[in-house]
Amino acid sequence: MTLHTLNELIAEGVRGRYILVRSDLNVPLDGSTVTDDGRIKASLPVLSKLTDAGARVLVTAHLGRPKGAPEEKYSLKPAVARLAELADFKVSLAGDTVGGSAKEAAASLQDGEVLVLENVRFDARETSKDDAERGAFADELVALTGGNGAYVDDAFGAVHRKHASVYDVATRLPSYLGDLVHTEVEVLRKLTADTQRPYVVVLGGSKVSDKLAVIDNLLGKADTILVGGGMLFTFLAAAGHKVASSLLEEDQIPVVQDYLKRAADAGTEFVVPTDVVVAEKFAADAAHETVPADAIESSSFGAQGIGLDIGPDSAAAFAERIKGARTVFWNGPMGVFEFEAFSAGTRAIAQALTETDAFTVVGGGDSAAAVRTLGFADDQFGHISTGGGASLEYLEGKELPGLSVLDR
Ligand code: ADP
Ligand code: MG
Repeated sequence: MTLHTLNELIAEGVRGRYILVRSDLNVPLDGSTVTDDGRIKASLPVLSKLTDAGARVLVTAHLGRPKGAPEEKYSLKPAVARLAELADFKVSLAGDTVGGSAKEAAASLQDGEVLVLENVRFDARETSKDDAERGAFADELVALTGGNGAYVDDAFGAVHRKHASVYDVATRLPSYLGDLVHTEVEVLRKLTADTQRPYVVVLGGSKVSDKLAVIDNLLGKADTILVGGGMLFTFLAAAGHKVASSLLEEDQIPVVQDYLKRAADAGTEFVVPTDVVVAEKFAADAAHETVPADAIESSSFGAQGIGLDIGPDSAAAFAERIKGARTVFWNGPMGVFEFEAFSAGTRAIAQALTETDAFTVVGGGDSAAAVRTLGFADDQFGHISTGGGASLEYLEGKELPGLSVLDR
C-alpha cells in the first residue's frame, strides 16, 4: 500500500490551491454548546499546517445523523464557532454544503483561510448506496476546489464508511493522509504486523456481537485475550454457567464456543473472569456482592442479579497479564464504570496499562472516555484511538474503503 502524507502535499506546494479536508467535527452538543471539544482540538494541527502554507482550505464534516436534509439541530455552527475561537487563522461556515452559499464563500476565500461546508449529511447523496448518486455529490464538492485541488482525509472515525466526502472525492482528486489518520494507521499496523509479543488484547463494553467479531481475526495473532464487560457473560454461558439477568447474547453462544474450541490450536489463550460483581438492579446505588463467576445465581439477588463489573481477583489476574505484555490493545470498559461502585475493574485495567512497559493502545469512544473520567491522562498511554468502529474493523481484517482509496 502506498499512501501519501500531508507533509508530501505541503512539500509539493499548496499556496493559493483549494485543499478539501475531511475533518471529524462530530462533537457532543448540549443545545448549541459544545460539551467536549476534543475532536475540534484534534482537527486543528492539519488545518494550521495547511493555512500556514497558504492553502485555501475547504472542510467537510458531519455532525450527528440528520436524515439527508438540513436540520438546525445538526448544524455545524456550534462546532465552527468553537473552532474559530481556537484557531489562529480565519474560519467561516457556509450556509449550505454545495449550494449557492458554499460556492460564493469558496470563490471569495483567501490564501490561509478556512471555509467549513455545512454538515455533509444534510445531503442524502453523502451516504447513498448508489455509486452514481454519491459520485454526483462528490463532483460538486470537488468543483469547489477549481482545477488544481487536492484532498486530505483527517477523519479516521469515518474511514470505514463508503461515503461521498470520504471515498468518492478521493477517487477524483490527488489524495493524502491527514496527520490524525496517519498516526492511527501507523498504530494499527503495529497491532497487525510484526507485533511485539506477548500481545495481550482486552475486550469489554456492551456492543457484544461487534466485539466478538474481532476475535475471529485475533485468534493466532493475540497471545492472550482478556474477556470483561458485557461479553463475559456470553463466555460464561458458553461454558455452561448461569448468568442470572446479566447482559447475554444467546445467539452468540455458538460463536463463542467455536472460538474456545479453536483457541488452543491457534495458540491464543482466553482469560475469562473468575469472579464478578453482581448488583440487585442496574443503578448507581444498587446493592451488590462479589461472587464466583461460575455461581452468579448464588448471590442474594438470585436470578435477578446483574453482573456489572469483573471482580477483584479477575482484575488482579488481568493486570498481571498486562504487566507481562509487550503490546496491549484495549477496547471496551470492564464494567459499568459510569457508576462508581462498578468502576473498579475498568480502573484496574487502566492502571495496569499505565504501569506496563508494553506499547499500549486504547480504542473505543467509551473506553477513551472511561480512562479520562477515571482521572488518567492521555499521555499515560501509547495511543488513544479516535475511531472505535474503524479501528475494530481494521483489526477484524476488513477493508476500510476510506483508506484503500488513498492507495495510489
Ligand atoms: P467502546 O465505546 O469503548 O467501544 P462499548 O460502546 O462497547 O465500548 O461499551 C461501553 C459501555 O459498556 C459502557 O457504557 C459500560 O457501562 C458498558 N458495560 C460494561 N460492562 C457492562 C456490563 N457488565 N453490563 C452492561 N453494560 C456494561
Ligand atoms: Mg461505545
